Amino acid sequence: MQFASRLDAIETSAIRELFKLLGKPGIISFAGGFPDSAMFDVDGIRAATEQALAQEPGAALQYGATEGYQPLREQLAAFMASKGVQDAAPEQLIVTTGSQQALDLIGKTMISPGDKVIVEGPTFLATIQCFRLYGADLITAPVDGEGVQTDALEQLIIEHRPKLIYLIPTFGNPSGATLSLARRKRVLELAAQYQTLVVEDDPYGDLYFHAAPPPSLLALSGQVPGSREWLAHCGSLSKVLSPGLRVGWLMAPPALLANAVMCKQFSDAHTSTFAQAVAAQYLQAGRMPATLAYVRQVYAERAQTLCDALREQLGDAVEFVQPQGGLFVWLRLTGAGGKECNANTLAQRAIERGVAFVPGAPFFAQNPDPATLRLSFATADVAKIREGVARLAQALNAV
Ligand code: PMP
Repeated sequence: MQFASRLDAIETSAIRELFKLLGKPGIISFAGGFPDSAMFDVDGIRAATEQALAQEPGAALQYGATEGYQPLREQLAAFMASKGVQDAAPEQLIVTTGSQQALDLIGKTMISPGDKVIVEGPTFLATIQCFRLYGADLITAPVDGEGVQTDALEQLIIEHRPKLIYLIPTFGNPSGATLSLARRKRVLELAAQYQTLVVEDDPYGDLYFHAAPPPSLLALSGQVPGSREWLAHCGSLSKVLSPGLRVGWLMAPPALLANAVMCKQFSDAHTSTFAQAVAAQYLQAGRMPATLAYVRQVYAERAQTLCDALREQLGDAVEFVQPQGGLFVWLRLTGAGGKECNANTLAQRAIERGVAFVPGAPFFAQNPDPATLRLSFATADVAKIREGVARLAQALNAV
């Protein structure tokens, strides 16, 4: 069969291939990007579901507006306002089928074949694939422990005049890095100065361990004149509540939002009204603060356990910046002591010893670094994390 030529730009995800091996019994997985399903607030979601069916069964089970179920838009606007976004109002956001759909709608509405798009190196694999489907020519901006390097970013903007810049400023996937406050302001200045759309993807910002991260770009945009109109923000309930609900949102300037709504209409008409009604009831019941407190505490302990074990057992064979939130630790194999420094080779050996992770190369749109890898601490408990790192150390020592 002859498929559309746009598919030529896409490679099957290396991660998907790896997931096939994860079914092996006894494997400890640091590979997935999933939250821990044992932590879902099942009672809260059950109560919200009953409320949704009791209060407005007709609306919850009927077709709905493409922009989203109004009570949920109101709850999400209030949620954004509580996180420092000035004048957040329901009309400024649309509900999407996960934030993944918000990214797809941005691709659909903004990217013509051949358009330059700047992404972080490394960045979220699904965004690389999605933007490539729309014909984007991806340019990679370098990232360090404080997120994207803004001097380099400015040079790339001048050189390439990109259509948009895609960033995960807080607890990035896969980098775990968080953009510093100073760099956030600089990004906003660049957006206003070069009149370039910045897309802020923020599914992890609420998952901080101790101190809250700097405010989102959207929350800071009031401080940088002219920046808000060049800013789109993607939010998600997936990592804090449930990815199965498929509830995300897009906040963006009115013209972009209107085009996104038009494209969404032809795509899925609207996000499941039932899921939206459940999410609205959940937020309205005021359960989110307790849920957030719980998941933050569990993930903080797992992240600490993983980082301590890595330092103890892998020593100078790896380097990493300890994340302050999110679900991931990004590692670089240093090759110290003659140890393996190719993450693909190590991944094969690790699987044989019963531990899985994702090599980092596919997360780079350009110039992949074969020495990098991503570890998720989300789904293994503390004991499994320690055992998983011990197995990783065996794999690393078995050169
Ligand atoms: N952006 C990033 C950076 C992610 O890591 C993910 C989930 N892995 C998403 C977007 C999509 O999440 P969802 O569609 O479930 O909201």
